[in-house]
Amino acid sequence: MASVSLIRAEIDGATVALTWSDDYSTAYHFIWLRDNCRCESCGEPSTGRRSLKLSALDLNVEPDRIRIESESILHVTWVGGHESQFSAVWLRNQAYDDASRRARVFSPVLWDDTFRASPPIMDFRSVDSDDTAFLDMLYTVRDHGLCFLKGAMTGAGTLAPFAEKIGFIQESNFGRVQDLVVDHNKLSVGNRAIALKPHTDEPYRASPSGILLFHCIDTDLTGAGSSIFMDGFEIAETLRVEDPEGFAVLSRNRQMFRRHFADDVDLIAEFPVVSEDEFGNITGVRINDRVAAPISITPNDVPVYYRAMQRLLQLAEDEEKMIRLTLQPGDVVIFDNHRVLHGRTDLTVTGKRWLQWIQVERGDFHSTMRISEDRLHRARSNDPFLRGAYS
Ligand SMILES: [Zn+2]
Repeated sequence: MASVSLIRAEIDGATVALTWSDDYSTAYHFIWLRDNCRCESCGEPSTGRRSLKLSALDLNVEPDRIRIESESILHVTWVGGHESQFSAVWLRNQAYDDASRRARVFSPVLWDDTFRASPPIMDFRSVDSDDTAFLDMLYTVRDHGLCFLKGAMTGAGTLAPFAEKIGFIQESNFGRVQDLVVDHNKLSVGNRAIALKPHTDEPYRASPSGILLFHCIDTDLTGAGSSIFMDGFEIAETLRVEDPEGFAVLSRNRQMFRRHFADDVDLIAEFPVVSEDEFGNITGVRINDRVAAPISITPNDVPVYYRAMQRLLQLAEDEEKMIRLTLQPGDVVIFDNHRVLHGRTDLTVTGKRWLQWIQVERGDFHSTMRISEDRLHRARSNDPFLRGAYS
């Protein structure tokens, strides 16, 4: 994009229409341009340090003159005299017509049998010590939703310092660094011996756990307690193909989720099981019928909602779509809880399986990715922001 030059600027209604040397044309509203003025007194509009106040702008602001300088800068002199300059590259990168926005939308790579047969595995010590390997791991989690690491130390203090490199550790009512061992004194179902079918964690929060990290400290020699991972986007896309109407009903209605511990917390959230962006791309899932609460949706949708929900949960039990393995001491797995479902087979009460887990917020994960790109002098990725299970 950097080499594309600006060859024409003309007024078209309430917009400035620009044409580029590769024949691309797109328009910017006057108010959008004025609001994004980058002059010294207005400030930089995308860094959180601008001083222009929209509340004081005239919504009907109009240019007095526009001109292109050296095919690389658009100059706008506004009625009243204020002057703005925009670089051609910056304007092109901000284009907000449908095609440009669609091109910037992040598209994850769905899992398939090949991926399941050899999921990404990296060396913990490399990722922990080498910035390039670390960034590759972040990209892997962004693109596929999960990455395995092998060769970590097995001490109980191993995971927290590593997680802190990705983002601040999120504390919750369950704690900060949590132990997955059979312990009936703990509240979480993770601390009982029962099998857990694949689910996403804590959909009853307004913002569910983002990036989850599991670290295996000890394993059960009987083989009990195998871990299961599934691509929630893959099964949701499968549902969309099988039952487009059901998929649409699931994504346009909100599912109630609740987790109540008397006199401690009562967490309730109501969000779609499948979140989509404005182009219909899946951005997040909340799949966990253990904490589903009664739905309250338009009565006409109820039968189809149940049909689609049941099918989605059946797909979440499809063994052919699972990665299943027994984590070994020193293994770490990192995954996006807004996409990847996790579960496990039964534990044994006498077994020694011991995982620690930690959660990091997704916004921090993406921030770390961008800063890592800057430190390595890499070009920033096409906006990799994952919108998550929020809409
Ligand atoms: Zn200005």
